[in-house]
Amino acid sequence: MKTIYISGHKSPDTDSICSALAYANFKQKFDPENQYVPVRLGNVSNETQFILDYFGVEAPQFMESIAPGEQLIQVDHNEQAQAITGFDQAELLEIIDHHRINGIFTANPIYVRIEPVGCTATIITKIFNENEVEIDRTTAGLLMSAILSDSLVFKSPTCTALDEVTCRTLAEIAGVVDVEAYGLEMLKAGTSLSGKSIEEIFKTDFKDFVVGETKFGVAQVNTMDIDGFIEEMKEDMVDYMNQLCQADGYAFLLLALTDVVKEGSLLIATGDIATVEQAFNCQLEDHMKYAPGILSRKKQIIPVLTEAIVK
Ligand code: MN
Ligand code: MN
Repeated sequence: MKTIYISGHKSPDTDSICSALAYANFKQKFDPENQYVPVRLGNVSNETQFILDYFGVEAPQFMESIAPGEQLIQVDHNEQAQAITGFDQAELLEIIDHHRINGIFTANPIYVRIEPVGCTATIITKIFNENEVEIDRTTAGLLMSAILSDSLVFKSPTCTALDEVTCRTLAEIAGVVDVEAYGLEMLKAGTSLSGKSIEEIFKTDFKDFVVGETKFGVAQVNTMDIDGFIEEMKEDMVDYMNQLCQADGYAFLLLALTDVVKEGSLLIATGDIATVEQAFNCQLEDHMKYAPGILSRKKQIIPVLTEAIVK
């Protein structure tokens, strides 16, 4: 019997946690000979904790790094910078993801399934159905919640028709009658910033990117209280981001504080601000600018930054 770890990305969001749990459930039912262990690479967010409590599920075990030769399945990421420490010495078996492909190199042929949908959980639901493996109520709840999270309750431009249909079908299995109401309650549980440290807020959902020689980082945080943030935390956040930018050699750092109800993001940048200004075709005032309509890091932030860097 082999042990196979299933991991989402660093700074795990709801999709990374719920997809790891749900895919482990699928693999275990499909291949009972081996042991599938979902793991997390960081703390569970308030939003994810709300879901785990709601459906009575334990968080996956924390894994600091993976030992050489151990077997691994990656969900919700494929970029090296976001993977578990030591993954390059481990044996990668599968990737199930919905992000751009950036630098996959493997020793052996592996199973890769990347689809341009709004959430890894949508792909995992397909895999259950294609293999005629039953989705239990709890797993349906986790998959549904991941789709609501990544799609910001169907409002994100990354959300496809398939994501919404899949989510509503899962809600029926999970016994959630009003999907929108559940989704908003879930997002709200995740957006409270009070009582959190500046670093905690910044690292909630932070990702490294490299374009050519340029390393930059983009954090995204959902909140329904941008004004409160500006008043109480903005100055300390800029100081923190300035320090991190210099200490870790980022060309620039960007934080997007996203309000899904107002449907816009407050952008805060440090370092090479000119690139950010060029990307969004605007002037930052005191390191910040409110950008109406900007909700998706993947579709609306990373592409314009990449373009501005390449120019
Ligand atoms: Mn994710
Ligand atoms: Mn995702």
